[in-house]
Amino acid sequence: MSRTRVLILGGGYVGLFTALTLKRKARGTVDITLLDRRPYMTYAPFLPEAGAGSIEPRHAVVPLRRELKGVKVLQGKVTGIRHADRTVTAATDIGDELSLEYDELVIALGSVSRTLPIPGLADFAIGFKYVEEASAVRNRVLGRIARAATTTDPDLRKRLLTFVFVGGGFAGVEAFAETEDMARAALRYYPELSDEDLHFVMVEAMGRILPEMGPDMGDYTVKELERRGMRVLLETRLEGCENGHVKLSNGEEFEADTVVWTAGVRPAPVLAESDLPLGPKGHVSASATLQVVTEDGEVVPGVWAAGDCAQVPNLVEGEGDWCAPSAQHAVRQARHLGANLAAHLAGRELKQYKHKHLGLVASLGLNKGVASTMGIKLRGWPAWVMHRTYHLLQIPTFNRKARVALDWTTALFFRRDMVSMGRLQEPRRAFEEAARS
Ligand SMILES: Cc1cc2nc3c(=O)[nH]c(=O)nc-3n(C[C@H](O)[C@H](O)[C@H](O)COP(=O)(O)OP(=O)(O)OC[C@H]3O[C@@H](n4cnc5c(N)ncnc54)[C@H](O)[C@@H]3O)c2cc1C
Repeated sequence: MSRTRVLILGGGYVGLFTALTLKRKARGTVDITLLDRRPYMTYAPFLPEAGAGSIEPRHAVVPLRRELKGVKVLQGKVTGIRHADRTVTAATDIGDELSLEYDELVIALGSVSRTLPIPGLADFAIGFKYVEEASAVRNRVLGRIARAATTTDPDLRKRLLTFVFVGGGFAGVEAFAETEDMARAALRYYPELSDEDLHFVMVEAMGRILPEMGPDMGDYTVKELERRGMRVLLETRLEGCENGHVKLSNGEEFEADTVVWTAGVRPAPVLAESDLPLGPKGHVSASATLQVVTEDGEVVPGVWAAGDCAQVPNLVEGEGDWCAPSAQHAVRQARHLGANLAAHLAGRELKQYKHKHLGLVASLGLNKGVASTMGIKLRGWPAWVMHRTYHLLQIPTFNRKARVALDWTTALFFRRDMVSMGRLQEPRRAFEEAARS
């Protein structure tokens, strides 16, 4: 009997967990291929800690080839999806074009930063969705502190030490608070600088931050961040950041050498060019069985979708509600999708995805956090412990759990590493200088 060719696009939460589930449940009947631009799955909830030096950035990612034995893992960028022909095209890093055929397709392409046409944004700002961005923010912040310590020009010093984060959602607040915590800790080694020299500014268009956690936790977090000396500007929009000249909707203008954009996500853009049915915001339309469906709810045979790139009905909340983009939904949907796909291939009945969101835990720096889960609200150290325990249990593979636990333990005894590795971005510089001198 010939095996069913399953092609999974994307190797993040959904891609990895779908492949693992399918491998187990449809053993011997499927040939699974997984395609991603990166050779690893990113455990995004650890990015703020990786950016803050509490975790080695490599330990916040899971290598796909190592964990997906028996699955064909390809590296490349999806450039086209023609489901009518059951063909996907992809570009490899060396410029070749791949054409992949399949019997069943899983769309697990996640999301990208949702940007706006703000002058300077695309050229000057940086996102915080991938490990390379978290590492770059960390190197930048530590590098700017080192430079600021060597200048006597007060304007330049202020520009170097002004860090603007735009977007006060869950990921943005964590990135903002963790980065500030690291920067403040780094000042210990710079007697030339004082706490007042650091300027951390959060810009949020809505009247509150952390909407996912409710108004009380949002208000608490604003007070907590302000108590630490950070500015949280609510009902304020970024209107420009050309060459670091920041303009805000409240009329303020100032210079900042670092602008981090964490103002939400949108579905992977390649979907817009596919022949798959999309929802109003560009997500692939999926049913509660995680099969792709048309506007009229008719199943499109041979294609499945889940996670940030999919519009999946939230059966807990009822008609018209969709599952929010979160790791919690992504992991559970992926396992559900894998089981449903295996059931479909075996001619069994499919089950509907229904999951009540358990809430969120967020770290705001060492020993600081907020949590809102199953009706329980925690603040400060208990929330931070819950954050670490929860994510240590959740990060895939024992290998990564062990490495992260070791990172934390080492930092407990020797403090976290404060070295800036900005020069990693220009590895040939020293050699070129040597060759020229
Ligand atoms: C900083 C941060 C912190 C977060 N913290 C939490 C948290 O604490 N709790 C929580 O529930 N959620 C959290 N989230 C959200 C969570 O990470 C996402 O909801 C989750 O990653 C979605 O999983 P996914 O598989 O749909 O997408 P992803 O995990 O993003 O995977 C998509 C994959 O597709 C690949 N891809 C994209 N486009 C292409 C292409 N054209 N070709 C090839 N490959 C492609 C990408 O490389 C990626 O590997 C956080 C997100 C961020 C950014």
